Amino acid sequence: MNQPKCRFCAAPLCHVLCDLGMSPLANSYVRFEQANNAEKLYPLKVWVCNNCLLSQLEEFESPHAIFSDYPYFSSFSTSWVEHARRYCKMMVERFHFDTNSQIIEIASNDGYLLQHFKAEGIPVLGIEPAANIAKVAWEQKQIPSIVKFFGVQTAKDLVADGKTADLLVGNNVLAHVPDINDFVAGLKIALKPRGVITIEFPHLLRLIEQNEFDTIYHEHFSYLSFLAVEKIFAHHGLTLFDVEEVPTHGGSLRIFARHVENKTAAGMTTDRVAAMKHKEERFGLNKLKTYTAFGEKVKATKRKLLKFLIQAKDDGKTVAAYGAAAKGVTLMNYCGVRDDLVDYVVDKSPHKQNHFMPGVRIPIFAPEKVFETKPDYVLILPWNLKDEISEQMAGITEWNGKFVVPIPEVKVL
Ligand SMILES: [Zn+2]
Repeated sequence: MNQPKCRFCAAPLCHVLCDLGMSPLANSYVRFEQANNAEKLYPLKVWVCNNCLLSQLEEFESPHAIFSDYPYFSSFSTSWVEHARRYCKMMVERFHFDTNSQIIEIASNDGYLLQHFKAEGIPVLGIEPAANIAKVAWEQKQIPSIVKFFGVQTAKDLVADGKTADLLVGNNVLAHVPDINDFVAGLKIALKPRGVITIEFPHLLRLIEQNEFDTIYHEHFSYLSFLAVEKIFAHHGLTLFDVEEVPTHGGSLRIFARHVENKTAAGMTTDRVAAMKHKEERFGLNKLKTYTAFGEKVKATKRKLLKFLIQAKDDGKTVAAYGAAAKGVTLMNYCGVRDDLVDYVVDKSPHKQNHFMPGVRIPIFAPEKVFETKPDYVLILPWNLKDEISEQMAGITEWNGKFVVPIPEVKVL
């Protein structure tokens, strides 16, 4: 067997953060009529580099195969759109972007974020690899998008077109790029001399602390700490000058970066940078043993969820799940939960309805199904959206239905 190598520093990988076994690609929903077709499974094993401490999956499937026809439309999540709106307002106030600025978003999806800058009259451009989603951004929100993956080549194309960025935004994309060096080198090229980069990614500290192992899936190649990202950016001539903790995806970091050469006041390093590094070091993210201890916690969580579901069945109760997102695919496949324990999953997105969850083949229906069948428990798979979902589905209390979250450990709400 070939020893995998670190995608940042190329050291051989020999230590494991956690091993979730074999799993299908999280977004490869199976149409009902394809029920007899086989599915590809890949190892879902997160390595940690002994040299730079970057946590990572190996690349088994090309990003082209994963992201070119992606079924995820950001605007289906109202709390995510609201998060984006507040971000845009804060950025305009802090950095004074105006009609002469150029905002570029990488992985701009259906325009859920850029629409807020556009409403202020600020020129925007999206870069989105999924043509089906870029088309929606244009048709519904008039957001211009280039259908490409981002990296050095795309950055050079932008420069050639005179489209360099005063603000380069990338939310939930840094963790999704297999060639992280090519991506960050591209940021350096596409940024104006005084430009600002902000990137949001799920925080590895929260993943370990809150036991969020279901945020591990094949599309998500790296699991990032501030310490690791700072090293990677520094290697490419970029300085992290500020950081904020944001609540999305179970706890994310929003980092602010600039060119090393940019000494302007707007790019002064804040105290929050040293505070974040100190916080991560106190948690132990600078020590290998913090990483290698995580696997046992994951196994214990699986046993607890299975105990709850088996007990519910033994008591004659019915369980449905809400949210056929990637988190649920990882959780159900790792725990081996099929329609023997959870009858069906509901999801608002019509792109997922009338499909099976990959691997475990639990059928996906529209949310109305819950009100027809009145299950005793609704297991909220995207636990990070539990407030939004329990509000939308509040009607289940009519028959004394209860919400359950699986993470950080199974809990009836
Ligand atoms: Zn490394």
